[in-house]
Order: sequence, then C-alpha cells, then structure tokens
Amino acid sequence: MRLSGEQTVKPTITVIGLGRMGSALARAFLAAGFATHVWNRSPDKAAALADQGASVAPSAAAAAAAADIAVVCVSTYADSDRLLRSPEVAAALRGKLIVQLSSGSPNQAREQAQWAAGNSTAYLDGAIMATPNFIGEPGGTILYSGPQALFEANRPVFAALGGNPQFVGEDVGHASALDLSLLGQMWGALFGQFQAAAICQAEGIALDLFEAHRQAFLPVVEGALVDLVTRIRDKRFAGDAATLASIDVHYGAFSLLLQLCSERGLNDLVPKAQDSLFRKAIAAGQRQDDFAAIAQFTR
Ligand code: NAP
Repeated sequence: MRLSGEQTVKPTITVIGLGRMGSALARAFLAAGFATHVWNRSPDKAAALADQGASVAPSAAAAAAAADIAVVCVSTYADSDRLLRSPEVAAALRGKLIVQLSSGSPNQAREQAQWAAGNSTAYLDGAIMATPNFIGEPGGTILYSGPQALFEANRPVFAALGGNPQFVGEDVGHASALDLSLLGQMWGALFGQFQAAAICQAEGIALDLFEAHRQAFLPVVEGALVDLVTRIRDKRFAGDAATLASIDVHYGAFSLLLQLCSERGLNDLVPKAQDSLFRKAIAAGQRQDDFAAIAQFTR
C-alpha cells in the first residue's frame, strides 16, 4: 500500500464488521477485484461472504494482519475501540491504514485519529451517505475526512464502494459533522412527515392524495431551503425585497397548525419545540424579519 502518491498495485483490504453495511462493503470490494479479508464477531455473516470469494480471518487481529487497509464498520466507535485497541489488533495495524466507516460524532473521530497516530497507523474517517443497496453503485456517496494525500492515494479503493467518494476536509471530524448536519435536516423532514400524516388521517384525507400534492409542493420547499442556506451563510436576517415570507407570516400559518393539533387532539410535541423557536425570535423583536432570522436561536 502507498500512504501517499499514485497507487500502482491494488492494496489488500480487510473488512471488520459484517452487518448489513459491512457485508455490502465487502461485496463491493470483491466485485471490484480487491483481495478481501473479512472478520465479524458472529462468524455466520463471514461464512456467507466466503462463498463470494472473501478470505475469512479467524480473529480481528488476523484480519488486520492480513491486509494493507482495514475498513471498519461496526455499530459504534465504542465497539470499534474495544476491537482495534486490543494489544494484538493494535500491533497488527501498525504501518497500515484504518478507514473508519462506523457512525460516530466528530469528536469521536478526532479522538480515534489521535489514537491511531499514537499507534503509528494512518487514519481516514468516513460517513456513508447511503443505505447498503447503494454501495458499489454509481450513486453511492461516502464522505471522507483526514489527510487529503491519503484520500487521493487510495481513490481507487474508495471508488469501489460507490461512484461518489467525496473528500470533505483535513479536519478528521468533518465527515461525521457533515453526516450529522445532513441527517439532522433529513430527520426534520421525516418527523414533519409524521405530523403531516397525522393531520391527513385525523381529517380523513387519503395519504395517496397527500403524496401527489407533496410532490407538487416540493419545488416550493426546495426553493425556501436554498434561500435559507444562503441567507444563513450571509447573515441576511432582516426582511428585505427578496424575503419570501417574514417570521410574522410564517407564524400566522404555524399558529393554525397548533390550533389544528389542539382541535384534533394530535401530538404537538414537535410543533411545540418549533413554536418555542418562533417565540424567541418574536420576543427579540424580529417578527418582521426574514424567517432565516430564527437561525440565531438554534446555535
Ligand atoms: P448492523 O447490521 O446492526 O451490524 C452491526 C455490526 O456491528 C455487526 O457486524 C455486529 O457484529 C458489529 N458489532 C456490534 N457491536 C460489536 C462489538 N461490541 N464487537 C464487535 N462487533 C460488533 O448495522 P449496519 O447497518 O451494518 O451499520 C454498521 C455501521 O454503519 C453503523 O455505525 C451505522 O450507523 C453505519 N451506517 C449504516 C447504514 C445503513 O443503512 N445500514 C447507513 C449509513 C451508515 P455481530 O454481527 O456479531 O452482531
């Protein structure tokens, strides 16, 4: 393996952790022609990959010793730490590269990179922005952070996992941070969907009808999101000629959502949290400002 510079020979890979995601990663490496070793705490999952050409290691230390690059994909960083920091595995990883694809927080990634440096092991952190069915496919996106030279030197390895490997910065915590910011946005939309479905069901509106209208409404929502991102970036919070809707206008409609929840006895936990942010902005005298002004109260 080259830790920097052009990659000339295909490195040998080991995949540690063969849950839904780890198995998909191992299959993608095999499909791309990489010599692939695998290890999993429960041996049955490794056996399934042996049929597809993977070499099953008898232990995590043997898996680490067998390859140039250890791709780790277990449930949490705590699980990963327990595995990687055992004396046998740590020794086997010296001089190699860990690509950590388990989900973690930015600080967990920074701490793990620090441990790896102390163990003379190169380290890249990754965040998988996909479900297992996207792995190895053209649309599969994985974000990577850490030393850029390491990322560039191993691009062909990352290309095996999906058509869209993205380097997002030398701060090793940034893959996780971007992951969590994108997921935060996703959960906002997904929890919003629960609210929408509860309203439709309470009012006897078919969800198929809702879905047709949701799709027609999408460009409006997308436009508002893009506007919000640029306004937050530029700190343009005052209402201006380009303002799409003031806090006052939003809050007028939002109050009706709270009223409907009350009329129908719907769970208003999520709208109540949003209401508290509206109220902070209103209490600060920002009723006529752009909706983006609420960003000042979410930090
Ligand atoms: P999963 O199917 O539940 O698999 C979990 C894996 O972690 C299994 O291989 C499990 O081993 C292993 N593991 C858990 N605790 C362990 C321990 N203490 N020691 C050793 N191995 C341990 O989960 P997954 O979907 O593959 O997800 C794995 C990681 O990928 C997670 O961090 C997840 O957030 C991330 N991810 C998943 C997706 C997705 O769509 N699935 C998307 C993005 C990111 P056993 O088989 O022995 O239990």
